[in-house]
Amino acid sequence: MDANATTPVLPEVLEAMRPFWTEAFGNASSIHQPGQQARAAVERARESVAGLLGCRAAEVVFTSGGTESDNLALFGILAPGDHLIVSSMEHSAGLHAAQELARRGIDVTFLPSTTQGVIELSALEAALRPNTRLVSVMLANNETGVIQPIRELADRAHAVGALFHTDAVQAAGKLALDVKALGCDMLSISGHKMYAPQGVGALYVRRNVRLRSIFFGGNHERGRRPGTENVAGIVGLGKAAELAREWLAKNEQHSLAALRDRLEQGILAQVEEAGVNGAGATRVCNTSNMFFDHVEAEALVIALDLKGLAVSGGSACQSGATEPSHVLTAMGLSPARARASLRFSLSRMTTGDEVDCALALVPDAVARLRRLNPRHRKQPIALSR
Ligand code: PLP
Repeated sequence: MDANATTPVLPEVLEAMRPFWTEAFGNASSIHQPGQQARAAVERARESVAGLLGCRAAEVVFTSGGTESDNLALFGILAPGDHLIVSSMEHSAGLHAAQELARRGIDVTFLPSTTQGVIELSALEAALRPNTRLVSVMLANNETGVIQPIRELADRAHAVGALFHTDAVQAAGKLALDVKALGCDMLSISGHKMYAPQGVGALYVRRNVRLRSIFFGGNHERGRRPGTENVAGIVGLGKAAELAREWLAKNEQHSLAALRDRLEQGILAQVEEAGVNGAGATRVCNTSNMFFDHVEAEALVIALDLKGLAVSGGSACQSGATEPSHVLTAMGLSPARARASLRFSLSRMTTGDEVDCALALVPDAVARLRRLNPRHRKQPIALSR
């Protein structure tokens, strides 16, 4: 139950990729036949990703993943004298890129969140300036799953002539995406959050947006991203995009949301002093971030791991760090409650039996850890256990 950290490569995706490592291993820039086969496969994948996002194939730039897509969107647009607005809950890929831009002289504003994890339109309106060049707000948060009002935020940005980027890494394949309906100028996705491999992703760049490359090399990806294409990875992303469209067309996201809700309700029915972070906000179908007061999430992650349940205490990239989650603290959680918060993220393969298993394990693990916490210990520790 840690699918927001990464997802497995689906068998159909692996099968689609396999030939491009073996018999059809051409470089997509070569003019001979193997090269042309690789080029054709890359362009088919581009069409497929464009189909998932509702854009033109030429507007899709393949990258090495979500981190590069976010960096390309920010560093590829901003120049000294520009003003950038980002939400304070971005993934470190966007947040740390913005912090680095600030060190390089870009004016950066970090938008505050409501207690539900939502960026309000009034917060953006108050931050916009005549020199605001770019606004970047993620679509679905990786820790809480909370979905932002992207269309409305993008409209506000456009009203002052700014561009709008959204990190849709945790939204792609979980809800229907359409760049035109969202109103964004750039949008990031990552393969390994949508059943394609790690190390491949894409950035949608609307036609007529002048994006500078952040690497220097060949003329790949129409000069927007030099470097020999990861043909097999790109083919995998294309196949995963096709499968995501099929999955969404069958409305499977509603069944997954029902499974997630059953997990949440089942835990809340059994565990006191617990709750859902971001409850009440619109969230993606697979994510639940829950707090269990008087418990250290890190200890709970380990206790559940020993029982075979993989979950996360915050985003995977922050595990091991002692700081409480910046997302949860931005939502106003106390450091103690943020450290007592756990993320469950289900995958398309999660079954009802697995949810039942989690419902048996989590309340027991929380109770055991609370008994060991001197500040919470209400009953004596049962030494026989
Ligand atoms: N953006 C979000 C919201 C993410 O959740 C992640 C990964 O966790 C990334 C960006 C980074 O993507 P990648 O791991 O492909 O670099």
